[in-house]
Amino acid sequence: MTTSNGPERGDGSPSEENTDPKSDGRPSNFIERLIEEDNKTGRFGGKVHTRFPPEPNGYLHIGHAKSICLNFALAIKFGGKCNLRFDDTNPTTEDEEYVRSIQEDVRWLGFDWEDRLFYASDFFEELYAFAVKLVRKGKAYVDNLSADDISRHRGSLYEPGRESPHRERSVEENLDLLARMRKGEFDEGTHVLRAKIDMASPNLNLRDPVLYRIRKAAHHRTGTRWVIYPLYDFAHGQCDSLEGITHSICTLEFENHRALYDWFCQELEIHHPQQIEFARLNLTYAVMSKRKLLRLVKDSHVHGWNDPRMLTISGLRRRGYTPEALRSFCDEIGVTKFNSVIDMVVLENALRTDLNRRAPRFMAAVRPLKVVVENYPEGQSEEVEAINNPEDPAAGMRKMPFSRVLYIERDDFMEDPPKKFFRLAPGREVRLRYAYFVKCTGVVKDPTTGEVVEVRCTYDPATKGGDARDGRKVKATLHWVSASHAITAEVRLYNHLFSAEHPEDVPEGQDFLVNLNPNSLEVLPNAKLEPAIAGAAPGFRCQFERLGYFCVDTDSRPGRLVFNRSVTLKDDWSKIQKRDGA
Ligand code: ATP
Ligand code: MG
Repeated sequence: MTTSNGPERGDGSPSEENTDPKSDGRPSNFIERLIEEDNKTGRFGGKVHTRFPPEPNGYLHIGHAKSICLNFALAIKFGGKCNLRFDDTNPTTEDEEYVRSIQEDVRWLGFDWEDRLFYASDFFEELYAFAVKLVRKGKAYVDNLSADDISRHRGSLYEPGRESPHRERSVEENLDLLARMRKGEFDEGTHVLRAKIDMASPNLNLRDPVLYRIRKAAHHRTGTRWVIYPLYDFAHGQCDSLEGITHSICTLEFENHRALYDWFCQELEIHHPQQIEFARLNLTYAVMSKRKLLRLVKDSHVHGWNDPRMLTISGLRRRGYTPEALRSFCDEIGVTKFNSVIDMVVLENALRTDLNRRAPRFMAAVRPLKVVVENYPEGQSEEVEAINNPEDPAAGMRKMPFSRVLYIERDDFMEDPPKKFFRLAPGREVRLRYAYFVKCTGVVKDPTTGEVVEVRCTYDPATKGGDARDGRKVKATLHWVSASHAITAEVRLYNHLFSAEHPEDVPEGQDFLVNLNPNSLEVLPNAKLEPAIAGAAPGFRCQFERLGYFCVDTDSRPGRLVFNRSVTLKDDWSKIQKRDGA
């Protein structure tokens, strides 16, 4: 441990612009440039050691994924290490369930902390010793002001704070009081330990911040061993120091805390990491704070932390997101010093790009409409050849059964179509992909509702495979499944959980819940899928042609598949239409 390597740069900004592409072909970001500079000057002996420091008070979300990717990727890039550390200093909000889910999520994203799993609570004894050291140096004191009085004494940006009447207690008295706080002699709220810095500092974080408070609550790891707990600000930086972290990367709101962390390291004469701040990730149509996500869960606006509408890592995983898509999304958005809101489409496109390459294609009619091919013999069937993935020739072909009774998508038929509707309608001919041209000859309606329940067609045997030998064209290519061969499944379609682009922008007196989208989930219990998909297990991902990418949900049971739509397709089908000459 060294003491001489305190930060010289102050604001963590790069001293020179250098956009030379790195070996991985992309320009380095400002954090990488700062680290390169440190490596050049030998500031940390060429060492790069980062950490991801979640507080186990909720499940991780896509914003955390950005921080995970950033910290682990920096370690990999510079041949260093990255720790996982739980900043578990608040016994009343933290839980083992969160500790477990966080580890699962980091691993699933593809990162490995090896044997470097730490907890702030592992350092409680060291942190207490640091507190004692500050008291001995006359740099900390026990205060009896209430929490309210402390914040009243704190002043504001425009007026200095006021000193506590207990600020000048002797070192002996402070040591005695601190020891008795630890022993549990005092009630919650009666005593706190504060740093003695400067009540007139323009930086409010330096106005004698609270370091320890009394909390007679059991901690998920240390049980009832402690009745005083360090505040986050007193634990976080010192844990970084104890772990030998070189570059302590955090989000912009901690910029004003850096001076405090620096003060602790200097006064305690301990290893001094460089804090570097970056802008947190915000996404349109989403909220990102764990407190708000917890409310969605606790008040049952969603079905748990891993509800596929949640932008938690576990929700995205269940929705069908891949670790590769999340990593490439984080890489693409990069790191900056400026707060911004990323369009949700960027996240969705990362998944489309990944799955387009590797998801096998199948056919499904999620809102099925029966089609009877009148001139196809009853009781007969045949097989047609379908391409598994046009983007991946190695994926090969499969066979699909074709027969007299089929299902198509209800949206693909209109009895009385408007001008721009080119799909199936009375008298019109379309292509059933990989199979035949069919022509609509009539409909059967429900006598009471008048709803079309069946479409009657004829097929042209000379169009087998989906091509007319006479060169005649059709304007649409539809997906379909054979009714007697199809399997029935439940399909869940999702919309944004919030209907407002910026759900947190609400009028005074309202909160973000007013922007919840009442139509964020649509359940289709009677979808018809081609039989080749029957054996799919939870986590299996595929494309249903023209409908999007889908993933088998964990609610599936033997004989009852449940699919989540991960993301819609956007333009893919129009490309197919062009290629097929439809
Ligand atoms: P939240 O505000 O969502 O509750 P947090 O910052 O309190 O998040 P922590 O568990 O303290 O949650 O976060 C662990 C790490 O993840 C921190 O280093 C934090 O800076 C980072 N992080 C949290 N949210 C984001 C985000 N939206 N974008 C980037 N990094 C984030
Ligand atoms: Mg936090």
